[in-house]
Parts: sequence; C-alpha cells; structure tokens
Amino acid sequence: MRALTLVADRKLELAERPAPPPPGPGEAQVRIKAVALNHIDVWGWRGMAFAKRAYPLVVGAEAAGEIAATGPDVAGLQPGDPVVVYGALTCAECRACREGRDNLCENVKGVMGFHIDGFARELLNVPARLVIPVPAGVAMRHAACAPIAFSTVQHMLFDNAKLEPGESVLVHAGGSGIGTAAIQMAKAIGCTVITTVGDDAKADKARALGADHVINYKTERFEHVVRKLTKKRGVDVVFEHVGADTFNGSLLALKRGGRLVTCGSTSGPTVTINLMQLFQQQYRIIGSFGASMRNIRESLAKMAQGLVPVIDTEAPIAEFERGLQRLESRQVFGKIVVTF
Ligand SMILES: [Zn+2]
Repeated sequence: MRALTLVADRKLELAERPAPPPPGPGEAQVRIKAVALNHIDVWGWRGMAFAKRAYPLVVGAEAAGEIAATGPDVAGLQPGDPVVVYGALTCAECRACREGRDNLCENVKGVMGFHIDGFARELLNVPARLVIPVPAGVAMRHAACAPIAFSTVQHMLFDNAKLEPGESVLVHAGGSGIGTAAIQMAKAIGCTVITTVGDDAKADKARALGADHVINYKTERFEHVVRKLTKKRGVDVVFEHVGADTFNGSLLALKRGGRLVTCGSTSGPTVTINLMQLFQQQYRIIGSFGASMRNIRESLAKMAQGLVPVIDTEAPIAEFERGLQRLESRQVFGKIVVTF
C-alpha cells in the first residue's frame, strides 16, 4: 500500500509500505479516502525540536475513510461504513478519558501524524473505540475536516468560550481552515462576526461566508476597528490562533469580562501581557487544544445539517507537500484536502 512519510525535515516521500495485518480484537481497519491539512502538519513538516518521534513518520493528522474490516469482537461497524478516527491514541482508562475529556488524557501516546504515524496511508488499524461514524449525506472531503478543524472550533467556541446566540465574536485569520469554520459556526447561532484577513480577495470571500465586518489587518489596526465597530465596548469573545502578532491587540478588542480562547500561535508563541489590564478588565483567557470525541460527533452532525467546510483545494495525495507550502504562505481560503 502507499503511505506518505516524512523522512527528514521538510522532506516527504510517497513510499510503498506493507499493508497492516487483519484487525485484532477491539480494532477496526480503515481505508483512508481523504486527508485534510492543518497547521500542525506544517509544524511537523518543518521539524519540531521538542517533539520526540522517529523517521520515517506517516504524516496526516485528520482524515476520513471507510471501514475495510473489523476485529472479531467489534460490533456496530460494517465494511463500507464511512468513518473518521480520533486523531490521538488516548488510553480510555484515565479519569479524563472516562469523563469524555479525551484531549486531557493523562496517558496519551501521541498525536497521529505528528508524534506517531498518521493517516496519510491507504490502510491502517485503529482501536474501534476511536472510530466515529459519518452521517449519511456528508462527503468524504468534508468529513475529513471534522476530527481536527471543525471539532477544535466546536470545542473552542462552545465548550470553552461558551459563545451564546447574539454575542459578538472576533475571529482571527478568517481565511484559515479554522477561521472559516469559526465564522460559519458563530453565524449559525446568530452571532455578530468580525473577522480579519490579509488581502481584499479574502475579504470578499469572508463576507460571502457571512462575516458581518471584515478587517484587512495589513492596512488597518484591527483592535481600533473593533473598538469603533462595538462603540468602544469590545467584543464578547475573541477567537485567537495567530499568537504573538495579535494577542495584545486581541485583549484590547475584548469587552470587560470578555473571553479570549486560543488554540494556536502561528506567528510566534511568546507574548508579554499587562496583568493590571488582565485583572481590572476581568478577562478570561482560555487555552484550547484538540477536541473530545463528542465534539467530532457534533461537528459531523452540523455538516449533515448543511454547515459544510469551505474547501480551498482538493488534490491527489502526492500534492500534500504543495498543500503545506500553500498553508505556510497563508494563501488559503478554507481547507486543503488530499485524496487517495
Ligand atoms: Zn486517558
């Protein structure tokens, strides 16, 4: 079978690998059809000094496919069923896992496609408990965006920031995969969405997606525009993932008692913040990483109801690296999906 492997920093190879053995007890074998790209793939491809891992590493952190076979004791999954798979090997036994907070697992064996072999291969065996059925009517290229992109946004906006209908939210990088999903999910419950983009073509697309106000962050200071748009009050929620370049501006764009939720630091991981501003303004700053199994089900349910991901590019698996370059250079509007 074919597998896309990282063999050195910034070097991918599409290689022939032996197919996995028939699935054992508690396992399902999944035939991967579509892999969606995320910034974690860019980090992994660049090489991460702090991530312990061995090359060659099969890349791909989120994907969709269909059941090829199941182990002898696995019920509820049939060959041909469309599925996605939770993207980290969690233990199922620790307190966090038992409470359904899978992304806080105390014994996680790693993020697939980053620390350990991922999804960019034709077949793989996974614990059946990590397999989530895809509802009827959801396309593979869309389902592939559920395990990380959509579920991360679901977790950030609703579990963590507790976004309510009618609130205002600032979504950074509205053209990114998670940015487009955040605009869609916030608009779907009737929020006012302000978003930032880096060029005018993306501004038009963000407006077409439903954003109420679009700020070109290269020509305007977004925090000033947000304060003007909200009559100096600030927004209820900021959806952060840009990091160093925007974090302090994001705090200035928040109302008193507002919530900032962040899942990324693409422009750099280190900032200095004013603690007096933090406590006087009573901000809540919430870190968010990954999602729960429930968030993936919720994301797929939203897709089945018509909230489908914005696809920037769909290409064959061999184009994975070009997709990473496109992500790195921030030329995207929506998700990049590669298919087998
Ligand atoms: Zn666990």
